Amino acid sequence: MDCLFCKIIAGEIPSTQVYSDEHAVVFKDIHPKAPVHLLIVPRKHIISLAELEEQHDGLIAHWMRLLPKIAKQQGLNHGFRTVINTGPAGGQIVFHLHIHLLGGDKLSGAGFDD
Ligand code: 5GP
Ligand code: ZN
Repeated sequence: MDCLFCKIIAGEIPSTQVYSDEHAVVFKDIHPKAPVHLLIVPRKHIISLAELEEQHDGLIAHWMRLLPKIAKQQGLNHGFRTVINTGPAGGQIVFHLHIHLLGGDKLSGAGFDD
């Protein structure tokens, strides 16, 4: 499968990984938009939020609970931002579901673009 994040998960493309478990991998975004900018990625190839089904409920719960753990591990004690881009109109460029975890600065407004 020609998917960038599947290749990163398989170790075929290098990344700076900060966490890994049986369901998820977390690595640094190559173009960080904040001092901490991580991507929380399910090992399973799911295209986007729009493709989620009931069978993924366990994964979603795991994933959500992972976010504050990773944020704490990264020292984001005063808060953090999570972003999920869905589909071309939502700004998604890598079509393997992922959550952006941003922090380390006081992030302005609700926007994501700099
Ligand atoms: P999207 O717009 O799909 O939500 O975000 C994809 C993210 O993946 C972007 O923030 C982009 O900087 C990041 N990205 C693209 N290619 C690579 C790569 O090869 N390695 C890493 N670590 N991040 C990447
Ligand atoms: Zn993939």
